[in-house]
Amino acid sequence: MSPKVDIDREECTGCGLCYNDECPEVFMEGESGISDVKMEFREGEPGQGKIPENLRGCAEKAADACPVSAIAILED
Ligand code: SF4
Repeated sequence: MSPKVDIDREECTGCGLCYNDECPEVFMEGESGISDVKMEFREGEPGQGKIPENLRGCAEKAADACPVSAIAILED
């Protein structure tokens, strides 16, 4: 089972914590600084993707650090 990542891009302020500091392996800076899931993991919308199990901890760390709780890690 691979975790799914869902970024609420309406809530994201573009602070950069997820893609610069906590988990650049999964997140990247998108248009206007808003967080996107990196291309290699993306599924559909820029804010959605599926990641390998070994990156779950990293993505969860970013979700915990996000000041507006815009990142959700979901089970597939
Ligand atoms: S940590 Fe949250 S608010 Fe900051 S860029 Fe990432 S998703 Fe956006």
